[in-house]
Amino acid sequence: MSDNNEFKAWRVHERDGQYQGAEEVLRLSDLPDGEVLIKVRYSSLNYKDALSAAGNKGVTRQYPHTPGIDAAGEVVASTAGTPAVGDSVIVTGYDLGMNTAGGFGQFIRVPASWCVPMPAGWDGRTAMIYGTAGLTAGLCVQKLLAMGAKPEQGKVAVTGASGAVGSVAVELLARLGFDVVAISGKADHADSLKALGAAEVVGREALTADKKPLLKPQFANAVDTVGGSPLAELLKQIRPGGSVACCGLVAGPQLETTVLPFILRGVNLLGVDSVEIPLTDKQAVWSRFAADWACPKTEQAARDIGRGQLGGALQAFLKGESAGKIVLDHN
Ligand code: NDP
Repeated sequence: MSDNNEFKAWRVHERDGQYQGAEEVLRLSDLPDGEVLIKVRYSSLNYKDALSAAGNKGVTRQYPHTPGIDAAGEVVASTAGTPAVGDSVIVTGYDLGMNTAGGFGQFIRVPASWCVPMPAGWDGRTAMIYGTAGLTAGLCVQKLLAMGAKPEQGKVAVTGASGAVGSVAVELLARLGFDVVAISGKADHADSLKALGAAEVVGREALTADKKPLLKPQFANAVDTVGGSPLAELLKQIRPGGSVACCGLVAGPQLETTVLPFILRGVNLLGVDSVEIPLTDKQAVWSRFAADWACPKTEQAARDIGRGQLGGALQAFLKGESAGKIVLDHN
């Protein structure tokens, strides 16, 4: 921030129905009102940021807008007791980056109730390697575990495996001892998925639409990040009593299925939201990633980019070509 309260942000403008993002200089007075002013050190790239940058009105209603649903940094002003000036915090979800200026700017101003204290031993970059995508992967795994998922029950499938959510789910499940089948459209990522811990990597054709209402059960449980027709096919291949944690829609928001997997095999479809859940639930998952759920391979493989590279990186999400975790470095 310069003396006259200026800072840099990657902002998206709407011109004649086209959406274009670029770095520009803003003032602190451009930020919304809020209790806590945070100097953002790092953000993280998510599919939702790509939708916001592309003008998806379901994500962001009004432009110009600064996307970035994730941010990590230091509190520089606070009218709340907690967090206090100097505290390191993580902010993910709620309205950040949707209709509240987000982490693609060097400063954000948010309610105190959105701020999670940085777990001991973590820094902002580490937190943003996980970001909302990692948090979501953690919540998916937590739901499967709460349903009683155990490694000895059999293989666990992860769809969209090379993506931001999928790749963390692969490493975390493998680390917890599960036999992970990574389902991925990127044949050239098979080695990196195996390096994350996948026992097997299969193509998206494993979930090609099939008219039969039930198929041979292949997987004890699954994490689904893609939705649409692949999720419908996945449900047909889950073993009796198994569960699918469902969090995404890159293959479409529609789910056309029969009730047969549910009523004949007792399959459970578990919805996962990382955005509006209570702060304490987010904090619990961050604490685990900072301890026994750490994913060192994901941490090592993360890529850092600057604001100037955001446009291309976000386009890759929309094309389904993005892979692994990408951190935005504001420093
Ligand atoms: P990414 O783009 O990083 O990953 C999605 C992956 O899905 C791609 O890398 C690709 O993996 C696969 N994929 C892409 N397009 C298709 C398609 N048409 N059909 C089948 N597979 C496809 O996104 P994220 O991991 O960040 O997010 C995944 C989803 O989870 C998104 O829909 C996002 O909105 C949602 N999400 C939901 C949250 C919640 O709170 N519920 C929070 C965070 C994300 P591959 O090539 O390996 O197949």
